[in-house]
Amino acid sequence: MNAADSESLARRLLAAGYQEDSLERADVAVLNTCVVRQASEDRVYSKLHELKAWKTPERTIAVTGCIVAKEGDELKRRFPHLDAVVPIGEYDDFLAGLEARYDYSEGEALPAAGRTGVSHYVRVIQGCDHNCTFCIVPRVRGRERHVPLGEVLHECAAAVEAGAKEIVLLGQNVDDYHDPAGRGGLAALVREVEKIPGVRRLRFMTSHPQDLEPELLEAMAASDVVCRELQLPVQSGDDAILKRMARGYQTRHYRAIVERARTLMPDIGLATDVIVGFPGESEAAFLNTRSLLEEIQFDVVHLAMYSPRPGTFAARSLSDDVPNEEKLRRLNDLLALQREIAVRKTARWVGRDVEVLIEGTDELGRPYGRIRQGKRAVVLRGSGVNAGDVIDLRVVSASAGQLTGLPAA
Ligand code: SF4
Repeated sequence: MNAADSESLARRLLAAGYQEDSLERADVAVLNTCVVRQASEDRVYSKLHELKAWKTPERTIAVTGCIVAKEGDELKRRFPHLDAVVPIGEYDDFLAGLEARYDYSEGEALPAAGRTGVSHYVRVIQGCDHNCTFCIVPRVRGRERHVPLGEVLHECAAAVEAGAKEIVLLGQNVDDYHDPAGRGGLAALVREVEKIPGVRRLRFMTSHPQDLEPELLEAMAASDVVCRELQLPVQSGDDAILKRMARGYQTRHYRAIVERARTLMPDIGLATDVIVGFPGESEAAFLNTRSLLEEIQFDVVHLAMYSPRPGTFAARSLSDDVPNEEKLRRLNDLLALQREIAVRKTARWVGRDVEVLIEGTDELGRPYGRIRQGKRAVVLRGSGVNAGDVIDLRVVSASAGQLTGLPAA
């Protein structure tokens, strides 16, 4: 979501005549921010401190993203060298202010396919109507706003026309998408987008176990375009903790979705998010999460230690009663478990041919991209393989993080 916001602002700036450059040479620095965790928020503050040395009267520092909704003009009080506080999506005043300060004219638009030229992110929902007790997103992104289906299709078609090969539909809870005019939910949208000539791949994120429609899994399974990948946060493997988190489902619902998905698509890539040390998480509750991870064997688990976010229900009303060392022990335990699972699961690809959409070249100059199940893949002896190509790769080795292979004959 943040990458999509950065691109939409970058597109406006480039069209107005600005160019991306190094910080040393730049006149304007824009920080796009995330506050989902305290650590991300702290990074913003330290970056703002760092920028103090860079700031001169001729230079502009702006902050946008979720921190603006959370902290507002308080930011200017704390950081007097900050020039502009720009709410997400409200770029007009900021651009007008820049125009008055700097004179740039020859605009060069960012390609509709975005920075990589390969993937185009489309926000189909902004905000979230859930109220998970640990989460700051509803406060900073507001209630859900759904983009009309026709508008999404129009944007996707324009991106493909400009060279995009992959469309990524985005929403904090993308499964809740519905067209405001009643033309259907996410499954209907997916079926329409995949029909656009030239779309090689279609992905969407992030799903929610309470809102995922069964037809969506069927639409995925029936398609050669939709990626076999689900980003489905479980957060905890313990029903009492899920209730305290107000997630709106139990582990049996979650298991049923995974079972259905794997029946329809045995190779589906599954990624999840887990929080350890949530208020009231006993050792037994933690072990329930651990067994769920062992049972489901996710491809990727994003692990976080609970930390209260001011402004959330949990911070206000639940006691942060798991000691920090214990949170850390649980985190490390699950990290080690998941590392083993990921290595084992990735090894299953060795010797197989996989389809890779090339996104660019890595620091060693080797083409890389992703397979349809979401795993990153690097191409050895890939001369002549370019961003945007879709190639068959024979996998020769695998680590937890990526596959490596040779173009298949
Ligand atoms: Fe936050 Fe996701 Fe829950 Fe919405 S569904 S409140 S974005 S965790």
